[in-house]
This record gives sequence, structure tokens and C-alpha cells, in this order.
Amino acid sequence: MGAVGGEEPTPGPGGNEKIFVSVRLRPLNEKEAERNDVSDWECINDNTIIYRNNLSLSERSMYPTAYTFDRVFRFDCSTRRVYEEAAKEVALSVVNGINSSIFAYGQTSSGKTYTMSGITEYTVADIYDYINNHKEREFCLKFSAMEIYNESVRDLLSADSTPLRLLDDPERGTIVERLTEETLRDWNHFRELLSICEAQRQIGETSLNEASSRSHQILRLTVESSAREFLGNDKSSSLTATVNFVDLAGSERASQTLSAGTRLKEGCHINRSLLTLGTVIRKLSKGRNGHVPYRDSKLTRILQSSLGGNARTAIICTLSPARSHVEQSRNTLLFASCAK
Ligand code: ADP
Ligand code: MG
Repeated sequence: MGAVGGEEPTPGPGGNEKIFVSVRLRPLNEKEAERNDVSDWECINDNTIIYRNNLSLSERSMYPTAYTFDRVFRFDCSTRRVYEEAAKEVALSVVNGINSSIFAYGQTSSGKTYTMSGITEYTVADIYDYINNHKEREFCLKFSAMEIYNESVRDLLSADSTPLRLLDDPERGTIVERLTEETLRDWNHFRELLSICEAQRQIGETSLNEASSRSHQILRLTVESSAREFLGNDKSSSLTATVNFVDLAGSERASQTLSAGTRLKEGCHINRSLLTLGTVIRKLSKGRNGHVPYRDSKLTRILQSSLGGNARTAIICTLSPARSHVEQSRNTLLFASCAK
């Protein structure tokens, strides 16, 4: 389990403080194949993804053809493997009292939800495994879920869709007022809560067009543990930490490369939380000095204690292979490069 369980930290996710950045290419889907779209991207090794289509001379001066990351995943790679190699260590550091965030970033339909839902379930399953193998400690898992749409926060475990307020607590930092927090009884209870979130998300979508491409979903698991008293251990060795699974709004909402004409039309869709997250991540990746504008958006305020500082972060950038999506794919890789 790598760095988890007091072993020596290993290089890779969670092994050091820097953000672990990976890219996952999805397969060409049926619709794309039907319209004779082709796949232009190829992972040539574990770290490098290249653009294969011939670039014109002017394009060649503008765009790189090869991009390098902590890890890249081919189109036929399983979510299990993506989890194991790009998220597991960061996510499981929560059992050792270390906060963390795992993000899926990419344009709509690139595979964010597909990737993040698998990672969330694998993590919780592994945490239950860990708990079963560490009977010397007593664990309590708490789960909550929220959605940020247009800088408004909604509880995904409650039928009440009244926007939730953020409050500043001197000890705990930013807290989401009245957010439901369920104590998990077992794995089945966790699955039940996931389906409630899913249903809540869909209720929102019928009234708000394209909501899933514009909203951020945060699933949040808090792990509390303490040594069992009967072993004569010190009760004071209790640990609490949170892992956040963040399925971001479609990155086309942060597009900086819109032409002048479309910028006006699309301007109202540009997503403040997504833009601020980009700025925060760029600042963090450059070192800890200087002002980090966490307070500029709801998303970064909510995640502040799990982003930067001692917290661990992994970002999985999802990529459509289709030639018709090349511009968005380049934007995603540019974001990923800045986060390294
Ligand atoms: P997003 O959340 O980024 O909008 P989705 O996760 O909903 O995208 O993925 C869009 C579609 O592509 C879904 O039908 C999903 O099942 C499929 N898909 C995404 N990634 C993969 C993958 N790596 N392998 C197979 N199918 C995928
Ligand atoms: Mg999605």
C-alpha cells in the first residue's frame, strides 16, 4: 500500500508534496466512429502522449507534439489501473490523517464521471479492507456530497435544494452550513448514498439545461480513527482527515482560446470555480510562496484544507481522442502541464 501504513514514502502519487498529474485517453466512441472521426493521440510510454496527425508548419510552431506527465493511460486501460497508479496512494493517505483531493478534469464527454466514480468506489472498498486489517484502531467513516452550480452549493444527500452557505470557522476553516453528513454503516450503505446523489443530480438536470457539464460534484469522505483503549494505547492518538472526489465541470467552461466572436456569447458560461481552481493549482505547483486565491471561488474555499499545505492532490485529466476535439484536448493538456 505504498506510503500508507507508516512505510517509507515512495515516489509517485502521495510520495511527495507535488501534485500528481496524469492523463487518461478514452477510446473513440460509436458516434465518433460513425462520423469517421479518427483518433489522433497515442500514449507511447507510461509518461508521454503524442499528437500523431501531421501538423502544418504554422501549427508546429504553436503546439507541442509530445507531452510528458507523471503517468499517461492508454485508451484501453482499465479504471482499476488508473486508480492503482494515479490515485490510490493520495486517496488512502486519509487513513493516516492526511487530507487529500482527487480531481477529474476534462471537456464534457471525455470520461470524467466514468473515471471518478470508479476511483471513488475503489477507494472506499480499500478503506474498508484497511479497517479490517487494522483492528487495533477504531474507525468511523462519514460521507457527504455536494454540487456547485453557478457558485451556488447544493446538498446532494438532501431533497431540499436551498443553496447552502459557507461559513468560516476559526478552527475548522471553511465549513458548508447544514450539509448532510452520514455516518457510514457499511459498504451497502455507501452504495445507497451514492444512488441518492445520482438521483439528486438528475433532478437538477431536468430543470437546468446541461447541468452536469456546468456543475462540480464533490463527494467527501471523512475518516476518524483512534487506538482502541483496551490495548492500553493512548486515546490521544486520534486522527481525522478528509478525502474529496471532485468531478469537475466540463473544462470547455474555462476555455481561454475562444475566438473574439464566441467569447461574447459564451462569456456567461465561463465558470468562476474552474478558473480559480486553475489559478490555485498553478500557484501551488510553483511552490508555496505568494498569495493563493482560495477565497475567489466556492470550490476552492470548500477544498482549501485539502489542497496545498500538507494535503495531497492528484489530478486525472481525461482526453477525447477524436480529431474533432483536438482544440479542447490541447487545452486540457495545457492545464495538465501547468499543474505539474
Ligand atoms: P464526462 O463526465 O467527462 O462528461 P463521461 O464520464 O460521462 O464523460 O463519459 C462519456 C461517455 O464515454 C460515457 O458513456 C462513458 O461511459 C464513456 N467513457 C468514458 N471514458 C471511457 C473509457 N475510458 N472507456 C470506455 N468508455 C468510456
Ligand atoms: Mg460527467
